[in-house]
Amino acid sequence: CGIIGHVGTDDALDTLLTGLENLEYRGYDSAGIAVQNGAGIAVQKRSGKVEELKDSIGDRHIEGNVGIGHTRWSTHGPPTDENAHPHTDGTEDVAVVHNGIIENYADLKAWLRERGHEFTSDTDTEVIPHLIQYYLDEGMESEAAFRRAIDELEGSYAVTAMLDGEHVLYAARKGSPLVVGVEDEEFFLASDVPAFLEYTDTVVYLEDGDVAIIDEAGVEFTDLAGDPISRDLETVEWD
Ligand code: GLU
Repeated sequence: CGIIGHVGTDDALDTLLTGLENLEYRGYDSAGIAVQNGAGIAVQKRSGKVEELKDSIGDRHIEGNVGIGHTRWSTHGPPTDENAHPHTDGTEDVAVVHNGIIENYADLKAWLRERGHEFTSDTDTEVIPHLIQYYLDEGMESEAAFRRAIDELEGSYAVTAMLDGEHVLYAARKGSPLVVGVEDEEFFLASDVPAFLEYTDTVVYLEDGDVAIIDEAGVEFTDLAGDPISRDLETVEWD
């Protein structure tokens, strides 16, 4: 139900947890985060409140300046720890958060199973990291693999993905909101502006069919075919 993402120079964890708390008003039944520092992706997720997610993190050392977070409002599969987002491809090379519903997930899951992919959740979302990994295994570079996977999805989605060893967030939307926040070399991504309003009020709204690739150098927008598009920076007024 809520997405938060961060790419920057500081540790992502606090920004992600603050963002999730700021999104609590949207309603949710589970929460989770994934952070990476180039030495693997650390995932922590569970059913229940953000407060309980924080307790479950405890003393676990989750360092890294790229990360994604999610508050889930279950549509496919009950609110269990396994069904909470982020979801991975199983090897934790790819982590994904998603708002919305993938209508053709059963077909995609069957197709991926025939190709040796194993699933650990009941969600529609879990097909996304597996599809990205499938196209990476086919030899595609990261951006192309992300776009190709998104192109397979039917339904509504706001999706954010990160890949192990990269300082990059990949985002796409169709029918669910997603907005990028920009502040010097710090970048934020969320389903709604209040998630990161204490850090920046300079934003770019994604439109349906947009893909955003965000790294320390900036944000690049393309369509699903990979052709560049331009989107304007705006300053939001918020009470
Ligand atoms: N359909 C997904 C799920 O059930 C995402 C739900 C959401 O938007 O939070 O996990």
